[in-house]
Amino acid sequence: MNPLRVTVWHEYRHEKLDKQVADVYPEGIHGALAKGLAPYGFDIHTATLDEPEHGLTQEALDNTDVLTWWGHMAHEEVSDEIVDRVQERVLNGMGLIVLHSGHLSKIFRRLMGTGCMLRWREADEKERIWTVDPSHPICDGLPEYIEIDEAEMYGEHFDIPPPDTLVFISWFEGGEVFRSGCCYQRGQGKIFYFRPGHETYPIFHLPIVHKVIANAINWAKPVTNMAPVRGNIPEFMA
Ligand code: ZN
Repeated sequence: MNPLRVTVWHEYRHEKLDKQVADVYPEGIHGALAKGLAPYGFDIHTATLDEPEHGLTQEALDNTDVLTWWGHMAHEEVSDEIVDRVQERVLNGMGLIVLHSGHLSKIFRRLMGTGCMLRWREADEKERIWTVDPSHPICDGLPEYIEIDEAEMYGEHFDIPPPDTLVFISWFEGGEVFRSGCCYQRGQGKIFYFRPGHETYPIFHLPIVHKVIANAINWAKPVTNMAPVRGNIPEFMA
């Protein structure tokens, strides 16, 4: 079986501008994710905002089964043309995994159709990410909850459509809760939003986080190459 083709997309700005972030992610968040996902046998490529066409040429997307997306400070610099292109691929079956601050990315807001804002606080709080759908493939091999000692808080209300399936809920020691693992289908594509992963915390170095993302990639992979026929069908089908 051919390995799944995964493109790890990363804005890659904080690391260039902020030494504190570069110390946490010397190879960029995309580098940390590519390294962490490598043991799962995917065919992994990375792409970043400052590459031509943000590294997301039509050819690159046509050769991607699942795209992961992390952005934060430069969402508005992603060109609408590329957003159109990614949306089209998702609607035609490419999986999309949106990570942490990617909740405000153009592509996520486009696919959700809502504002996607939430409440947040940077106060090194403990987070417990509770599994609320233990039979779901994204939870395969996971414990009852994942604990992260220090995290940025994201709290409700999170302005998203109700997920088709809610997989995780986070609790923070400051008292807030958050829908941390949300599954959607749009067209033939599957989308998973996963909360953890601020640029100043080493969360994308954690093997348990790699496991969740790997499970999500396997869940979100395209399941068929058959193109559904739509529109006027003039002849009866025998
Ligand atoms: Zn953050």
